[in-house]
Amino acid sequence: MSRTYVVTGAASGIGKATKELLEERGNRVIGVDIAGADVVADLSTHEGRQELVAKVTELSGGKIDAIIANAGLATPTPATVSVNFFGAVATLDGLRPLLSGSSAPRAVATASMASLFPPDEELLDALLAHDEPAALHRAGELVAAGEQTAGQIYGTTKQALARWIRRNAPTEEWAGASIPLNGIAPGVVVTPMTEAFTGTAEARTAILEMVPMPLNGIFEPRDVAYLLAWLTSEENAHLCGQIVFIDGGSDAIIRGDSTW
Ligand code: NAD
Repeated sequence: MSRTYVVTGAASGIGKATKELLEERGNRVIGVDIAGADVVADLSTHEGRQELVAKVTELSGGKIDAIIANAGLATPTPATVSVNFFGAVATLDGLRPLLSGSSAPRAVATASMASLFPPDEELLDALLAHDEPAALHRAGELVAAGEQTAGQIYGTTKQALARWIRRNAPTEEWAGASIPLNGIAPGVVVTPMTEAFTGTAEARTAILEMVPMPLNGIFEPRDVAYLLAWLTSEENAHLCGQIVFIDGGSDAIIRGDSTW
């Protein structure tokens, strides 16, 4: 049976591969991106987030079956804060009402294994408090303080997103409305975002030291698409607030059994 999916970040990498896979399987996909998609919207801005909801409502006729909030940026800049956390949350919250007409509504967002790296606590607090001006201000300070602190921005946004999912999935709005809300945390995937880390053998060796992936190493966007497709399929009815690490083993190595 054909379902209607909304995929953000659909013009490239993991989002593009997911759109292609879902379409091959006979589904309808409304792709969203800053350019080159069915819905063109800048998710770093308030206007772009409103545009997303308005255009998806119009194109879908007000009913969708699944949200895949996947758009992201990995630059050490304040824009990464706006897209990765506030853009993703606005996508999930903004499109949630459109799931109410589905017999099997599903939602998932793309976090990252980088959520395991030590966050900047002040930025994390601002994100979890949903204070975008404070978060942007703190990100500006991290950039000004140098490369190392600016490098914490990405992982901090992804940890905040994972924690937002964890907090919200069991609530009335999501679990109470029969919507499984979950996240994924990929390791290193070959996309335009990671070109600097995967483009040469030397770079691959260096990144694998930081992100150990003993199970089959660096992988392709389509490998992630299979997981996103399952998490948003009718078959997934009972996962709630789980962050599934598709990372070749980096979580198992970095956290070991400390999750318990
Ligand atoms: P990508 O750069 O190929 O794709 C990201 C897409 O998001 C792009 O099409 C881009 O235009 C879109 N986007 C960025 N800013 C946007 C904005 N303001 N408004 C709308 N769209 C915007 O990268 P990817 O690797 O496919 O990344 C997809 C997701 O996976 C991201 O959330 C990323 O953080 C996450 N991720 C990637 C990896 C990896 O190794 N590639 C690992 C962990 C997590």
